[in-house]
Amino acid sequence: MSALPELDDAQLARHARHVLLAEIGYEGQQRIRAGHALILGLGGLGSPVALYLAAAGTGTLTLVDDDRVELSNLQRQIAHADADRGRLKAESAAGRCRALNPALRVQTVCIRPDAAALAALVAAADVVLDCSDNFPTRHALNLACRAARRPLVSGAAIRWSGQLAVFDAREPDAPCYRCLYPEADEAAAETCTANGVIAPLVGVIGALQASEALQLLAGRPAALAGRLLRYDALGARLRSARLPRDPDCPVCGRRAG
Ligand SMILES: [Zn+2]
Repeated sequence: MSALPELDDAQLARHARHVLLAEIGYEGQQRIRAGHALILGLGGLGSPVALYLAAAGTGTLTLVDDDRVELSNLQRQIAHADADRGRLKAESAAGRCRALNPALRVQTVCIRPDAAALAALVAAADVVLDCSDNFPTRHALNLACRAARRPLVSGAAIRWSGQLAVFDAREPDAPCYRCLYPEADEAAAETCTANGVIAPLVGVIGALQASEALQLLAGRPAALAGRLLRYDALGARLRSARLPRDPDCPVCGRRAG
């Protein structure tokens, strides 16, 4: 990494509660300031992720979403306000992030990127957050992150339960998203549109994704590396399980190209 940017007095005051943390400190905050996070999806998960990463001083945010804000989104997608209905979600969320922290660079991509565009977006970022709602995007992002060796912080939430995992392709034995979900499972894909979701659940999972991303940006290993964390809002239970690499995984296994 090139020389880290010095923090001026205003930045030091703004981020004092991070600098006070031994695990982040001045240098960790400098790394966050120099960092670039790519967020795919600015809905329920992407809203808290973008707001927390902006508030925390992430130097560059790239927000990717081709959807527009609808009335039924406002129950849980807190980066958007009532007046944003009809606007592109990436633009609406970018406005909120800039208002929160004008020092940041916030870029928007308001199309669904193809594989080549996704590869370029991932390669330009230091950490990638999957806040999307469909399996084709999740698998495409996994492939791009493996190829570019970028850590992928993946979140999902539906009805009363959510989960997250970090797939860090920089680690030699790390599993990937495909180890967890074979593509054949696509038929079983469920959506919040058809099944519903309790509003704060996406906030819980999104905040956990932001916490993992900030630790990675600060130069720490992912707290969740190699584990899958599940949260059940109805039972108020948080559980984690080891997430082994599938040796036969076509993306990261021994037969992968
Ligand atoms: Zn894999």
